Amino acid sequence: MKRVYNFSAGPSVLPEVVLKRAAEEMFDYHGCGQSVMEMSHRSKVFEGIINGAESLLREVMNIPDNYKVLFLQGGASTQFAAIPLNFGNKNKKADYVLTGQWATKAYKEAARYLDAKAVASSKDKTFSYIPKLDPDTFTKDADYFYICMNNTIYGTVYHELPQTGDVPLVADVSSCFLSTPLDVSKFGVIYAGAQKNMAPAGLVVAIIREDLLGNAMDFTPTMLNYQTHADNGSMFNTPPCWTIYIAKLVLEWIKNDIGGLENMQKRNEQKAAILYNFLDNSKMFKGTVVPEDRSLMNVPFITGNDELDAKFVKEATANDFVNLKGHRTVGGMRASIYNAMPIEGVEKLVEFMKDFEARNS
Ligand SMILES: *Cc1c(COP(=O)(O)O)cnc(C)c1O
Repeated sequence: MKRVYNFSAGPSVLPEVVLKRAAEEMFDYHGCGQSVMEMSHRSKVFEGIINGAESLLREVMNIPDNYKVLFLQGGASTQFAAIPLNFGNKNKKADYVLTGQWATKAYKEAARYLDAKAVASSKDKTFSYIPKLDPDTFTKDADYFYICMNNTIYGTVYHELPQTGDVPLVADVSSCFLSTPLDVSKFGVIYAGAQKNMAPAGLVVAIIREDLLGNAMDFTPTMLNYQTHADNGSMFNTPPCWTIYIAKLVLEWIKNDIGGLENMQKRNEQKAAILYNFLDNSKMFKGTVVPEDRSLMNVPFITGNDELDAKFVKEATANDFVNLKGHRTVGGMRASIYNAMPIEGVEKLVEFMKDFEARNS
């Protein structure tokens, strides 16, 4: 059986121990004679899985008690509408920072329901940096302030959070979720699509400060009202059972094998440094993001020559380094080196890049 090094931005690589465990438990989960895919979501067994996933997440992320943890569906993209509908009903105003395609989509969706203001943007340089933010330009009576924390397509991340005072900070953390410790108390709401760094596609985790719930706009669809899911323990309807189960296994891996998020951060910093150091010293390849805003998770790079980029992607694929092509809107290459990418995968990629450079210059 062969495994490639998968640098996909999402759905993305999962820890091998998790896949093996899921395979072992596939036929007969803990002696109940069924797989998790087949069992009733109302069964005691599944109740143990979903409650276990929530308590592990609370433990690993150190989530304060006054935050609800919700397991939702519809992808991160559905939250782009749910956020204004749920949290924009006081003054019907919200601030957005445009740091890429996902932030811009969220902003445009919000503008359908309220007065959305783009307080800053890095579009002028293809979103290759995080704009400097001046709190004097923020809307004082905004209902919330929205950021996309890690910009999956462009490879930027906020190393410092905006100072929003009493205005709740809402963050899409899809592609940096569980990659480092995060002080949840600094946010009103964070949410993440699972398929980047946590589990297969089909699950979104939302972590919401309790006092922000219960004020959705009247016409909010029941399923988009976070209160619905908070009131029903994420079991108002059938939850994505299988994905929640894999998320639980991934959280066990983070807790028991990695030793928590501090260790995860060290590992991720070590991995990213291998790649960035190479890019900073290569004559052929270069990173596209300003050094101070570089992501630990998504590393875009180019040669400056489209044909050479294509040749690199093709040869890399033939050597089992797959999904290195950059996003269709930006071109070039992108290596997504999420939690589950082993250090060895990055080391071998860099070796391959060195060799490619030597052969093509
Ligand atoms: C992938 C991604 C999305 C979109 O996720 P879907 O689950 O496909 O809707 C949104 N935000 C960020 C930061 C992403 O990386």
